[in-house]
Amino acid sequence: MIRSSLKRRTRPPSRRAKPRRGEPTPKEKAAIRQAVYERAGGLCQLRLHKDCTGLRILPFEGDVFERAHLVHLRARGAGGTWDMDNLTLGCAACHLGSMHTEGKKPE
Ligand SMILES: [Zn+2]
Repeated sequence: MIRSSLKRRTRPPSRRAKPRRGEPTPKEKAAIRQAVYERAGGLCQLRLHKDCTGLRILPFEGDVFERAHLVHLRARGAGGTWDMDNLTLGCAACHLGSMHTEGKKPE
């Protein structure tokens, strides 16, 4: 059998070997999320959604609609970074509902 030189002979790596440029490693991200969670005391800092009181302590782990979300104030796609001053804690209603679905932005 003649193999085309264009054909790949090894399996593509299943995971990105290095983080995207400017992105922390998964280990660093976990530490950042922990620090943001502690800074916020587990409370939603966004208060964008009508159902959000900002008074309920959100679980650190668990279902995506229950747990605390690490929120980029300025989106990564818009040049937002992983610096602590661009990050905050939010609940699912505010982060997914208000920010990502309705397009609201925290002030
Ligand atoms: Zn909220």
